[in-house]
Amino acid sequence: MQNTHKDLKVKFSVVIPLYNEEKSLEELYKRITLSLQSLSDSFEIIFVDDGSTDNSFAVLRNLHKKDNHVKAIRFRKNFGKSAALSVGFKEARGETIITIDADLQDLPEEIPTLIKKMDEGYDLVSGWKFKRKDPFLKKIASRLFNFVTSFYTGVKIHDFNCGLKSYRREVIEEMELYGELHRYIPAIANWKGFKVGEVKVNHQPRIHGKSKFGSERYLRGLFDLLTVIMLTKYPEKPLHFFGLLGTILSLAGLAINIYMAALRLSGKWISNRPLLLLGILLLILGIQFIFFGLMGELIVFSSQKETSYTVKEKLGS
Ligand code: UDP
Ligand code: MG
Repeated sequence: MQNTHKDLKVKFSVVIPLYNEEKSLEELYKRITLSLQSLSDSFEIIFVDDGSTDNSFAVLRNLHKKDNHVKAIRFRKNFGKSAALSVGFKEARGETIITIDADLQDLPEEIPTLIKKMDEGYDLVSGWKFKRKDPFLKKIASRLFNFVTSFYTGVKIHDFNCGLKSYRREVIEEMELYGELHRYIPAIANWKGFKVGEVKVNHQPRIHGKSKFGSERYLRGLFDLLTVIMLTKYPEKPLHFFGLLGTILSLAGLAINIYMAALRLSGKWISNRPLLLLGILLLILGIQFIFFGLMGELIVFSSQKETSYTVKEKLGS
């Protein structure tokens, strides 16, 4: 990710994605400022208005006028939280970058707790909403989501979707966000070799406005999990994934069809056997999967992404 003002660094950047949060912004700004001032005077607060239709941007305009620590970016329409974070990250000049939700559910007062954990040598620290103040169903769904994600990605944290996180600048520079991939930043960072940690944080119920994600978030989250598994486990070897699946399916199909052939040779009719259809189906599916894998290999080969590894240090030129 390119950053155009690399030499104008500040110590901390706070990035805040927001969508129709006019009632929270003023208080959020005050509390974040107090919290940051306890750490350093060198900071910036970047609000990204994700196409709000209420007065959010007018509030931000005011804050920017009063205080030059405040930057505000406004999308032309609602592009989603990942896009908002991505733009905020591009704009951020901080050595450490902190994200926080705009709805005051995460406490700005917890920022120093995250920073302290970073000092122990972590590259990314995620908040863990230990006692979630959300509706029951959301809590259960979230438990399941976090368990599955942790299991498949091997990242040992409890709460992937906490809005409150802090990052060393290098992590952000390696990150490409789209869709709803923001949920998997810790997984992607971990796969790239960064050290990921978590701290317990307090959580508040939403006071103003309402949640911007409906129940469709779980379905989308699931698709994104598939993407992340594919990207982190099999990025360079799609044939290993599709090939294994394809081989199992076609072997099963082959076995069934050999059995069918044997029956036919022993003089029995097999045209009335549903098993015959299954055998043919498995064989065709299996072969298709193998070809998918080969196509994947071709795509990987011809795109030759140089981003598939990350270098920590280099001595000598
Ligand atoms: N948000 C956003 N764009 C969207 C949806 C949400 O920028 O399309 C922001 C929202 O304003 C809030 C944060 O993302 O600051 C988290 O959203 P929300 O509180 O609705 O999620 P929940 O707490 O229900 O997970
Ligand atoms: Mg919220």
